[in-house]
Amino acid sequence: MIFNCLLCGEASLKIICINCSKNYLKTKIIKNKNVYSFYDYEVIEHFNKYKYQKRGDLVYKILSRPLIEFSRKFNFNSFVLPIDDVPKYFSHTGILANSMKSRFLKPLFGKLIASSKVKYAGKTLDYRLKNPRNFIYKGKKNIDVILVDDIKTTGLTLKEAKETLKKHGVNVIFNIVLSDKSIR
Ligand SMILES: [Zn+2]
Repeated sequence: MIFNCLLCGEASLKIICINCSKNYLKTKIIKNKNVYSFYDYEVIEHFNKYKYQKRGDLVYKILSRPLIEFSRKFNFNSFVLPIDDVPKYFSHTGILANSMKSRFLKPLFGKLIASSKVKYAGKTLDYRLKNPRNFIYKGKKNIDVILVDDIKTTGLTLKEAKETLKKHGVNVIFNIVLSDKSIR
Protein backbone atom coordinates (compact mmCIF):
# COMPACT_ATOMS: atom_id res chain seq x y z
CA MET A 1 0.00 0.00 0.00
CA ILE A 2 1.24 3.48 -0.89
CA PHE A 3 0.37 6.47 1.26
CA ASN A 4 0.87 10.17 0.96
CA CYS A 5 2.98 11.12 3.94
CA LEU A 6 0.81 13.05 6.41
CA LEU A 7 3.56 15.60 6.92
CA CYS A 8 5.17 16.23 3.51
CA GLY A 9 2.67 14.66 1.10
CA GLU A 10 5.29 12.58 -0.72
CA ALA A 11 4.47 9.00 -1.71
CA SER A 12 5.55 6.68 1.05
CA LEU A 13 5.24 3.07 2.19
CA LYS A 14 4.34 4.33 5.66
CA ILE A 15 1.75 6.95 6.57
CA ILE A 16 4.62 9.12 7.80
CA CYS A 17 7.64 8.86 5.49
CA ILE A 18 11.13 7.87 6.62
CA ASN A 19 12.49 11.40 6.20
CA CYS A 20 9.69 13.02 8.20
CA SER A 21 9.95 10.35 10.89
CA LYS A 22 13.63 11.16 11.21
CA ASN A 23 13.24 14.94 11.07
CA TYR A 24 10.05 15.54 13.03
CA LEU A 25 9.47 12.55 15.28
CA LYS A 26 12.47 13.17 17.48
CA THR A 27 12.30 11.31 20.73
CA LYS A 28 14.05 11.75 24.02
CA ILE A 29 13.11 9.88 27.15
CA ILE A 30 12.45 12.21 30.07
CA LYS A 31 11.47 11.03 33.52
CA ASN A 32 9.40 13.52 35.53
CA LYS A 33 8.69 12.03 38.96
CA ASN A 34 7.03 8.73 38.04
CA VAL A 35 6.09 9.66 34.47
CA TYR A 36 8.22 8.72 31.47
CA SER A 37 7.59 10.68 28.27
CA PHE A 38 9.09 10.49 24.79
CA TYR A 39 8.08 13.40 22.56
CA ASP A 40 7.69 17.17 22.73
CA TYR A 41 4.09 18.16 23.24
CA GLU A 42 3.65 19.95 19.89
CA VAL A 43 4.51 16.75 18.03
CA ILE A 44 1.84 14.68 19.74
CA GLU A 45 -0.68 17.51 19.66
CA HIS A 46 -0.24 17.68 15.89
CA PHE A 47 -1.40 14.07 15.51
CA ASN A 48 -4.19 14.28 18.09
CA LYS A 49 -6.91 14.53 15.44
CA TYR A 50 -6.04 11.06 14.13
CA LYS A 51 -7.12 9.43 17.39
CA TYR A 52 -10.68 9.10 16.20
CA GLN A 53 -10.08 8.66 12.47
CA LYS A 54 -9.84 5.54 10.34
CA ARG A 55 -6.17 4.71 9.71
CA GLY A 56 -5.21 6.76 12.75
CA ASP A 57 -3.99 3.42 14.09
CA LEU A 58 -1.13 3.62 11.58
CA VAL A 59 -0.12 6.98 13.04
CA TYR A 60 -0.16 5.66 16.61
CA LYS A 61 1.78 2.55 15.61
CA ILE A 62 4.54 4.82 14.34
CA LEU A 63 4.37 7.06 17.42
CA SER A 64 4.59 3.99 19.68
CA ARG A 65 7.95 2.87 18.22
CA PRO A 66 10.13 4.28 21.05
CA LEU A 67 7.98 2.40 23.59
CA ILE A 68 8.98 -0.91 22.02
CA GLU A 69 12.65 -0.34 22.68
CA PHE A 70 12.04 1.26 26.06
CA SER A 71 9.97 -1.64 27.38
CA ARG A 72 12.71 -4.15 26.46
CA LYS A 73 14.79 -2.73 29.32
CA PHE A 74 12.34 -4.05 31.89
CA ASN A 75 12.99 -7.57 33.04
CA PHE A 76 10.46 -7.72 35.85
CA ASN A 77 6.91 -9.01 35.58
CA SER A 78 4.22 -6.40 35.34
CA PHE A 79 0.98 -5.70 33.61
CA VAL A 80 0.59 -2.78 31.22
CA LEU A 81 -2.69 -0.96 31.64
CA PRO A 82 -3.92 1.48 28.98
CA ILE A 83 -6.27 4.22 30.17
CA ASP A 84 -9.78 4.14 28.71
CA ASP A 85 -8.93 1.96 25.70
CA VAL A 86 -12.35 1.89 24.10
CA PRO A 87 -12.00 1.40 20.36
CA LYS A 88 -13.97 3.41 17.85
CA TYR A 89 -11.92 2.45 14.80
CA PHE A 90 -9.08 1.61 17.14
CA SER A 91 -7.85 2.60 20.60
CA HIS A 92 -4.75 4.77 20.66
CA THR A 93 -3.88 3.88 24.25
CA GLY A 94 -4.45 0.21 23.38
CA ILE A 95 -1.87 0.50 20.58
CA LEU A 96 0.63 2.09 22.96
CA ALA A 97 0.13 -0.64 25.56
CA ASN A 98 0.36 -3.36 22.92
CA SER A 99 3.70 -2.00 21.71
CA MET A 100 5.13 -2.63 25.20
CA LYS A 101 4.21 -6.30 25.23
CA SER A 102 7.11 -8.57 26.09
CA ARG A 103 7.98 -11.76 27.93
CA PHE A 104 7.64 -9.74 31.14
CA LEU A 105 5.09 -7.07 30.33
CA LYS A 106 1.52 -8.13 29.68
CA PRO A 107 -1.09 -5.65 28.44
CA LEU A 108 -4.54 -5.72 30.03
CA PHE A 109 -7.01 -4.38 27.50
CA GLY A 110 -10.41 -2.87 28.25
CA LYS A 111 -10.00 -3.02 32.02
CA LEU A 112 -9.81 0.64 33.03
CA ILE A 113 -12.65 2.54 31.42
CA ALA A 114 -13.94 6.05 32.05
CA SER A 115 -17.66 6.00 32.75
CA SER A 116 -17.86 9.73 32.06
CA LYS A 117 -17.08 10.40 28.40
CA VAL A 118 -16.26 14.05 28.96
CA LYS A 119 -13.49 15.29 26.66
CA TYR A 120 -10.67 17.16 28.36
CA ALA A 121 -8.84 18.51 25.30
CA GLY A 122 -8.68 22.30 25.47
CA LYS A 123 -10.54 22.43 28.79
CA THR A 124 -9.37 24.30 31.90
CA LEU A 125 -8.14 22.65 35.07
CA ASP A 126 -11.28 23.93 36.82
CA TYR A 127 -13.48 22.18 34.24
CA ARG A 128 -11.46 18.99 34.60
CA LEU A 129 -11.78 19.06 38.37
CA LYS A 130 -15.56 19.50 38.14
CA ASN A 131 -15.91 16.69 35.60
CA PRO A 132 -14.04 13.63 36.79
CA ARG A 133 -13.63 10.66 34.44
CA ASN A 134 -15.10 8.23 37.00
CA PHE A 135 -13.00 5.24 36.08
CA ILE A 136 -14.28 1.71 36.42
CA TYR A 137 -11.71 -1.04 36.84
CA LYS A 138 -12.61 -4.60 35.87
CA GLY A 139 -9.20 -6.26 35.99
CA LYS A 140 -7.34 -8.48 38.42
CA LYS A 141 -6.90 -7.23 41.96
CA ASN A 142 -3.61 -6.89 43.85
CA ILE A 143 -1.25 -6.59 40.89
CA ASP A 144 1.46 -4.19 39.72
CA VAL A 145 0.81 -2.17 36.58
CA ILE A 146 2.47 0.32 34.28
CA LEU A 147 -0.20 2.88 33.43
CA VAL A 148 -0.29 4.13 29.83
CA ASP A 149 -1.84 7.27 28.33
CA ASP A 150 -1.04 9.44 25.32
CA ILE A 151 -0.65 12.86 26.97
CA LYS A 152 -0.21 14.07 30.50
CA THR A 153 -1.66 17.58 30.65
CA THR A 154 -2.49 18.44 34.26
CA GLY A 155 -1.85 14.96 35.62
CA LEU A 156 -5.46 14.74 36.79
CA THR A 157 -6.34 11.69 34.67
CA LEU A 158 -3.32 9.71 35.88
CA LYS A 159 -4.10 10.70 39.45
CA GLU A 160 -7.75 9.73 39.20
CA ALA A 161 -6.84 6.42 37.55
CA LYS A 162 -4.33 5.68 40.29
CA GLU A 163 -6.90 6.38 43.01
CA THR A 164 -9.42 4.05 41.38
CA LEU A 165 -6.81 1.30 41.03
CA LYS A 166 -5.71 1.67 44.65
CA LYS A 167 -9.20 0.64 45.77
CA HIS A 168 -8.60 -2.68 43.98
CA GLY A 169 -5.16 -3.17 45.45
CA VAL A 170 -3.54 -2.33 42.12
CA ASN A 171 -0.17 -0.63 42.43
CA VAL A 172 1.02 1.76 39.70
CA ILE A 173 4.78 1.25 39.35
CA PHE A 174 5.14 4.18 36.95
CA ASN A 175 3.34 5.94 34.11
CA ILE A 176 4.12 6.03 30.39
CA VAL A 177 2.88 8.83 28.15
CA LEU A 178 3.90 9.93 24.66
CA SER A 179 4.23 13.49 25.90
CA ASP A 180 4.16 15.24 29.26
CA LYS A 181 2.83 18.72 28.56
CA SER A 182 3.73 19.94 32.02
CA ILE A 183 7.46 19.72 31.19
CA ARG A 184 7.82 19.68 27.40
ZN1 LIG B 1 7.09 12.99 4.80
